Amino acid sequence: MDKYQHSQKNKLFKHAAHDPYCLPKVEGSAICPQCDAVYQAGNWTWNHPENTLVPNAQSVTCPACRRIADNAAAGTLTVSGSFWPQHRGEIVHLFEHIEKREKAEHALERIIHLTDTADELTVTTTGVHLANCLGHALEAAYKGQAHYHYDDNQCSVTIRWAREQ
Ligand SMILES: [Zn+2]
Repeated sequence: MDKYQHSQKNKLFKHAAHDPYCLPKVEGSAICPQCDAVYQAGNWTWNHPENTLVPNAQSVTCPACRRIADNAAAGTLTVSGSFWPQHRGEIVHLFEHIEKREKAEHALERIIHLTDTADELTVTTTGVHLANCLGHALEAAYKGQAHYHYDDNQCSVTIRWAREQ
């Protein structure tokens, strides 16, 4: 990752702090009753052995589980063009691979839904970072044309990727 990409990446995580789904801030530590993510020192992480015993943890549903329950995506990626229907299996596999990798490191970055229509494949995510990674993974694997549109406070992103045969 070069310096520019690195600063872009930091920016995405910083702006996520203003995400309405991250508010109100949790005081102290918490555990999500739905996915077992742990909130400690201002961050949601997975319940790794070293932080299993969270003293006085509250039960708080994490922002990712709230977004999934509300079907409120932070990231939306739409795949179109004549290329994808013949490569749907590979593309979905790529998305699942990226999700697994990113989710392991960032507890709040998850795929919400994959939806097919006649013309498009749409994937929604709980985090801006994951959608951004999926868009870049498509470009790296298949080239094509991608457009990234962030909302004003960078709490959500809409990505359109297209490739013709
Ligand atoms: Zn959760």
